[in-house]
Amino acid sequence: MMTLNIQLFAVPFRKVSKTRKRMRRAHNAMDLPGVTKCSNCGEVIKPHRVCPKCGNYKGKEIVNTTKEENED
Ligand SMILES: [Zn+2]
Repeated sequence: MMTLNIQLFAVPFRKVSKTRKRMRRAHNAMDLPGVTKCSNCGEVIKPHRVCPKCGNYKGKEIVNTTKEENED
């Protein structure tokens, strides 16, 4: 005898309208992961790291980022 390999799924009772679908997905947008702003220059940086632009961390300048002339 042939066995029917049918799986039963939960079937939606009604079609989800465009509006309902869009309303649900309105909250699904991803935001930038692990990103904060530098407290000194406002640059978007990774948290718990020295700002690559101004070299500040926790309000102190850690790395000197002033432009140095390249003289070889
Ligand atoms: Zn900065």
